[in-house]
Order: sequence, then C-alpha cells, then structure tokens
Amino acid sequence: METITRTKIVDVLKSESFGTKVNVKGWVRTRRGSKQVNFIALNDGSTINNVQIVVDIEKLGEEYLKPITTGACISVNGILVESQGQGQTCEIQAEEIEIYGTADPATYPLQKKGHSLEFLREIAHLRPRTNTFGAVFRIRHHMAMAIHRFFHERGFSYFHTPIITGSDCEGAGQMFQVTTLDLNDVKKTEEGAVDFAGDFFGKQTSLTVSGQLEGELAAMALGAIYTFGPTFRAENSNTPRHLAEFWMIEPEVAFYEIEENMQLAEDFIKYCIQWALDNCMEDIQFLNNMFDKELIERLQFVLKQNFVRLTYTEGIKILEEAVANGRKFEFPVYWGADLASEHERYLVEEHFKCPVILTDYPKEIKSFYMKQNEDGKTVRAMDVLFPKIGEIIGGSQREEDLEKLSRRAQEMGVPTKDIWWYLDTRRFGTAPHSGFGLGFERLLLFVTGMANIRDVIPFPRTPNNAEF
Ligand code: ATP
Ligand code: MN
Repeated sequence: METITRTKIVDVLKSESFGTKVNVKGWVRTRRGSKQVNFIALNDGSTINNVQIVVDIEKLGEEYLKPITTGACISVNGILVESQGQGQTCEIQAEEIEIYGTADPATYPLQKKGHSLEFLREIAHLRPRTNTFGAVFRIRHHMAMAIHRFFHERGFSYFHTPIITGSDCEGAGQMFQVTTLDLNDVKKTEEGAVDFAGDFFGKQTSLTVSGQLEGELAAMALGAIYTFGPTFRAENSNTPRHLAEFWMIEPEVAFYEIEENMQLAEDFIKYCIQWALDNCMEDIQFLNNMFDKELIERLQFVLKQNFVRLTYTEGIKILEEAVANGRKFEFPVYWGADLASEHERYLVEEHFKCPVILTDYPKEIKSFYMKQNEDGKTVRAMDVLFPKIGEIIGGSQREEDLEKLSRRAQEMGVPTKDIWWYLDTRRFGTAPHSGFGLGFERLLLFVTGMANIRDVIPFPRTPNNAEF
C-alpha cells in the first residue's frame, strides 16, 4: 500500500481539498451497502463524527473486504470527494485498504446500537469505542485542561500532595489502608494491636481522602495553589454520585476570606462550563440529544445566574417551611442535621431554581479545621449546591488561630500529635486563608448530563467492583 501521511478524521471532515489523496486510519462503526458499493463509517476518536468510506467491491475484492466488519481497524488510502449523501460534506473513495485488526462479529460485544449504560459498564474496556463514551471522555479531557488553564491564568501553582498518607484526620471518610504486611501472619504488639513497626512505612498508612492539609502548607508559602489528583474513600455508599476512587481539585489561597473563596468557586465552575460549551459542543450536542434534552439549556442557564448565597440556618428555615406545607423528605429536617442530597436539591431545583452556596454550617457536622464563627455554634463552611447533583463543592475559610484549632481538633477526637506539621502552619506565620474541594466527576456529571458517576470516569471503583 502506498505510504501517505495520515490525516485525522476531525481534519478530513473540515477539509475542502477535494480530489486529493488522503490516508485515514480508524475503527469501523458500521458497514452497509449493496453488492457493488459499500459504505463504511470510520471513526478514529478525534471527533464524534465518522467519515464515510465509499468502497467499490469489485475493485478491492469481495473476499478481501469480508473481515471489514464493525469493530475492525483499517487504514484507507483514497480520494477525498464532495459528498453526494446527506449529513456530511465529504467522503473518501477508497483506493487501497489495509486491515490492521479484525473483530469477529460472533464475539465482538459492540454489535448493535443502543446497548444500555449498565451493560457497557461491564465492558468498560471497550466502551470508549461508543459514541457516548467517546464524547464523555473527550469532554473529561477538556475539563482537565480548563481547570489547569483557569488556575494557571490566575497565578496559582499546581501542587502535588501525597497519595499515601500517615494521618487519619481529615475526617472526610473511611480510608483504604496501605500495607505490605502479610495479612495471613499479622504480628501483634504486647497490647494485642497490629504491630505496624514492621510495615513498609513503619507506621499505619492509608490512601488519601483529600490533599487539603498539605495544600494549606503550600498556600502558606506560594500564596495560591491547587491540587488535582486522585482521592480515595472507602465509604460504602452505593449512590450514583459516589466513587471509591475519584479525582478532586483543591485550591487553597492565603489571605482569602470566605467571600473571596465563594467568588473563586463560582468563577471557577462557570469558566469550566463556558470552556465546555466553547470547545466540546459537538459532543455535548450528542449527549443532549441522546440522554438529556435540557443539558445545553441548563449549562447556559447556570452561566447567566449569580449563585444564591445564604446561610445554613436560612436554608433550614426554607426546608422547614416546605415540610410544614406538606413537602415530604426521606430524612428529617432540623437545625443541626446534615443536609441530604434531597434537601440540597430541593433548595436548588424547587426553591431558588438556581445554584446555591450555603454557608455557616453547625460546627458539629463539619471538619475541625474550619474557622469558628463568633456565635460559638457555626463554622465558616461553604458548600456549592447544583441542580441534579447536590453538593459539587465543599470548602471553608480555615481556622488560623493555633489555640482554637487545637482545641477543636481535640474535641473532635483528631490526634493532634499526628498533625504537628499541620499545626506548625499556625505556629509560624499563620494567616487567614480559605479553600475548597471540587469533585471532578461531579462536575463532569453536570457538564455531560450523565446520570451516574460510574459513566464519567473510565474505570469506576465502587463497592465490589474493581474490574479492569
Ligand atoms: P458528600 O456529602 O456528597 O458525600 P462530602 O461532603 O463527603 O460529599 P467533601 O469531603 O466535602 O465531600 O469533598 C469535596 C468534594 O468532593 C465534594 O463536594 C464532592 O464534589 C466530591 N466528593 C466527595 N465524596 C465523593 C465521592 N465518594 N465520589 C465522588 N466525588 C466525591
Ligand atoms: Mn462536603
């Protein structure tokens, strides 16, 4: 076969160099046609759109073409021509085809269209080859780029916090233990506890639930940082919004009070959504048509809104009024209760019809490091609540006073001896500062309109599921 430099299908489809010879490579989505002429829809992942390959059966040989079925990988040399058919501007008249890999129709799982998302999760190794997951994972890439650009443009440094941690104090969730101990022969101390002295790190270690504490250390030096990495929570919550392994973005900024923190969160989310609309429209359009007819409208709507800001206490009042007027919730509403997703979504979707930032939560239901308010009851927490998602961001102004912070840690049973290094930031040159955590997959749920968090990460880890 003649060697021609490959053109990506995304570029071929934009090209108007009709009459020139091109090479494309990709995977066959469908093949149809008559005994004389066949049409192959070819996709190479560079765009959701396929290029149509027109094949003269007699010219290329019926026997030779036989293995070119759905899922096969081929390289095509041909002439770019203006398309006769509807729905495309150009197509390629094949002159030579090389078959890289076949996909036996008897065993290739992605035959017919319209597989359920549940079925596709069982073949997560192949699902990127579907239109849906091609779109989702291209958008995922673009969102990661948007996040780095947003912070880079604002002078934040990307700071890498450890994934293996020796402190169990974030309180954000159950942790996965990391060990090289032989679990069939665990040595015990005299007190009968597991002897971690013989473990790899000489102490008990886990996978991190958050990079925040280390992020705060960096903010006290670089001024403004963000983390963007995997985090792990062993909570057994089998919901469409929780993963055991998810990616989190955590900015932390010196000298920011909670108001600036809220503004940063709002600007940040809007920047990401705008980026998606500007750069991923074909993919979003596809998902809009397939799964969620209001997706584009919802994205555009959120961009136009100023997020409503109110305190937890005001939020509870609204929820209590709703209950008094007959609205039923599964979980009880009272001052001091942790809000469930149904409560968050009531505020966002039914009451305000707009994203909401709730602040000043009861200290009992928030972490020890949040700045304590004068009232002695609440802390300067801020959760951003979104339509269809509930909590998308959790953050706060941090307690910068050493004594108040240590006291709160003790009250909440956080072993201060394990976080001496964290407390040192308050000992040496402490400063007011704030930050938050955005769950990357929660953002992707919103931007893609997908309903289940398992469908916006390539290989989801959830209870009883770590295949692939
Ligand atoms: P939730 O109440 O929804 O379980 P959280 O309050 O435990 O969340 P935080 O500790 O505040 O979560 O974490 C910050 C952000 O990380 C959350 O706002 C959310 O976007 C995301 N997040 C938290 N837990 C998970 C999870 N298990 N899977 C995916 N994203 C998560
Ligand atoms: Mn939270």
